Amino acid sequence: MPQLRDTSVTGLSDWVNPPRYGAFVVVANPTLLLMDSGSQIRLYNTLSNGVEDLKLVEAGRLAFYSCGPTVYSYAHIGNFRSFLTADLIFRLGQTLGLDVTYVTNVTDVGHLTADDTADADGEDRMAKALQSKEGERFSNVWDLARYYTGALLRDWQALNLLEPSVRPRATEHMREQIEAVEKLLAKGHAYETSQGIYFSVASFPKYGKLSGNVDAESLDQEVREVVSDPEKRDPRDFALWKKDAKHLMQWYSPWGWGFPGWHIECSVMATRYLGETLDLHAGGEDLTFPHHECEIAQAEALSGKPFARHWVHTRFLQVEGEKMSKSLGNFLTVRELTASKDENGWGVDPLALRMALMSGHYRKPFNFTKATLKASVKHRERIVTAIEILKSATGEGEDRIGRRLEALYDRVLAALREDLNTPEALAAVIEGLKLIHGMARHLNAGSGQSGLDWLEKINGLLGIVHATEVVAEPDAEADLQAERIDALLVERTEARVSRDFARADEIRDELTAMDIDIMDSPTGSTWKRKSSIG
Ligand code: AMP
Ligand code: ZN
Repeated sequence: MPQLRDTSVTGLSDWVNPPRYGAFVVVANPTLLLMDSGSQIRLYNTLSNGVEDLKLVEAGRLAFYSCGPTVYSYAHIGNFRSFLTADLIFRLGQTLGLDVTYVTNVTDVGHLTADDTADADGEDRMAKALQSKEGERFSNVWDLARYYTGALLRDWQALNLLEPSVRPRATEHMREQIEAVEKLLAKGHAYETSQGIYFSVASFPKYGKLSGNVDAESLDQEVREVVSDPEKRDPRDFALWKKDAKHLMQWYSPWGWGFPGWHIECSVMATRYLGETLDLHAGGEDLTFPHHECEIAQAEALSGKPFARHWVHTRFLQVEGEKMSKSLGNFLTVRELTASKDENGWGVDPLALRMALMSGHYRKPFNFTKATLKASVKHRERIVTAIEILKSATGEGEDRIGRRLEALYDRVLAALREDLNTPEALAAVIEGLKLIHGMARHLNAGSGQSGLDWLEKINGLLGIVHATEVVAEPDAEADLQAERIDALLVERTEARVSRDFARADEIRDELTAMDIDIMDSPTGSTWKRKSSIG
């Protein structure tokens, strides 16, 4: 379990242990000291529209949340470019010695198809996916969510993204979401209609501070066309809870059966794991409005404190100059690009794909082309051959490359610290590779070792040299379910032996409802899941 920020004694530990970074100023009030603690990282802040120091609420600790995907399909390389920005910040923070708590969620309920323009309308993306051609192979929506979450994690690891400190799922935090909605109602920031609970935007004057969307009239106009609840007081109001007793995923709440709005999960899970004020919140550029604007409204209306002091947004990736979409046939996934070679010439090393995704600055529009990928494949091959050269270097003598590589490492670190300048960081790495290749015949064992050490440090920052070993954690939830299934099977066998067939049939029905197939044989009964997709 990661060490989470202790929000009960704000700042006390920092007072006892002075900050590791930034100037130490003796002041009577610990909070004043905390407000000034730096991270050694400068990042563009969407809130202020400028590059500024990433300040930390608690010295030496970075509390960071990044919006994860909705698991209704495979994540595409655009999604992964946003996750890569978060990964690079995580790596940079750790390299600088910060204690980083990095939380990134899985949205497995509540994200509607029209949420990006008008809140609380359209169909649930998960339910819609189940009814699509792709969804036919799943027996229910939970199975679909489980499958695509698994697929996400496999692609995540293939791209060498580090495991976050916490990866919470919306469906596992339902109680907290319901409690937050109750509190917003009690505080007068929300109201109930026959269709759901809405956040009252008029009750939160700072609405619009992130996206600049403050012009209520044009906003009303844009949303009015698609909003269908006539009881909504203001078209800008957004759903905290949708009443829907027919929905495929539903929970019981003080307002009957239903499911949460999309925005509430992120502000609830972020504050649950990181405290009321985060240092940094990230996501793709499309999330600035409405998702992040709504997260701010909910969280700040609840706590009365700033929700996140720094906001980072990754510009969208396009493919060969066009927006990625399934209908255009240019929807690229990690698994497709890294699978064995096909007629398109895909089938690349995942770390080459990672290099391609970081070859453009996160804040600039990024055009992913075959040429970009080809260039990255070449650079990646140079890394592999450099390792071979360095490993085979023998003989005594003075280190002939160490100092120059060290200077190049400093360049990489400085580039990343200055608004995550990945093109400049990669340029420095490529220069280092050129040096190693150019000196190949003159390297001794000492030089070989310093070259390998350099690559290891580069890997810590950029993750492009070798994959981090992943230790699979046992899936506690699956284990629990398996135990229950085993127990039911034993009970069923006993019922049959004592000729209580009614009970035996009841248990079979219960297992069928859990999507379990029972196989009876003369030696006993076994089971398997109905829709185990490999
Ligand atoms: P979603 O699954 O739609 O919630 O998206 C997950 C994350 O990927 C969010 O942070 C989005 O902003 C981001 N994202 C979606 N499409 C792209 C894209 N084409 N380029 C970069 N990021 C994207
Ligand atoms: Zn989010």
